[in-house]
Amino acid sequence: MIIALQSLFVLAGIIIFILIAFKMKSDKIKINMPENYQELLEDYVQFYRQLNEADKKIFEKRIEKFLSEVKITGVNAEVEDLDLLLIASGAVIPVFAISDWQYINLQEVLLYPGSFNQDFDQGGYDRNIAGMVGTGAMQHKMILTKWQLRQGFINNQDAHNTAIHEFVHLVDKMDGTFDGVPEIILERKYVKEWKNIMDSTIWQMKTYGSDIDMYGATNHIEFFAVVSEYFFEQPELLKTNHPDIFTMLARIYRTSN
Ligand SMILES: [Zn+2]
Repeated sequence: MIIALQSLFVLAGIIIFILIAFKMKSDKIKINMPENYQELLEDYVQFYRQLNEADKKIFEKRIEKFLSEVKITGVNAEVEDLDLLLIASGAVIPVFAISDWQYINLQEVLLYPGSFNQDFDQGGYDRNIAGMVGTGAMQHKMILTKWQLRQGFINNQDAHNTAIHEFVHLVDKMDGTFDGVPEIILERKYVKEWKNIMDSTIWQMKTYGSDIDMYGATNHIEFFAVVSEYFFEQPELLKTNHPDIFTMLARIYRTSN
């Protein structure tokens, strides 16, 4: 009798496990990677181009994983294969060194054509409404514009990449505080130093001007996102012009360059 009861519990356990596994699987979005996706990544994504073959494979897997977890919806814009790949690249690039990273604070990316609707009056627009991460009713959503998304990857010598900028905001928010200090990936002992670098650089920018986009002087949040764009687009130039920022971002993003 006891053995029969035990078997029943084991059976019930197995059934519950299968049901949960099935539910988790059904939450995933079925995606078919475009046939020529490697070619598109090679053509448009500088970060991918510079990886060795083994890391390229990892990057591709991470892109596929991201697209299976986050819904991408066009709003008056057609979401083409290239857009999917560029959005996912913007998501993977900042956290490429962290293999188990998951954007648990993101469910959907809305892709607008060139600018947001006039009547779309959510607060918190970024730099000429190029993109934003949602708050309030828009929590867990990100808005990107197709034109800016593509320009960010086509011009990779201007230190601007809207997708990377917005995903860096999500990385920043992941620890529960939106403050330019990504404590989830920055070792605690460096937090004070990073805040000091942000303060002194913002002061210098406001006083003397800078090669860093002035939007970064808005506050710590925008500073972190703006210098991260610079870091991923033109690392060598950042290293030359702002070695202290470069060193700290290399720590945050765990890159070896
Ligand atoms: Zn921003």
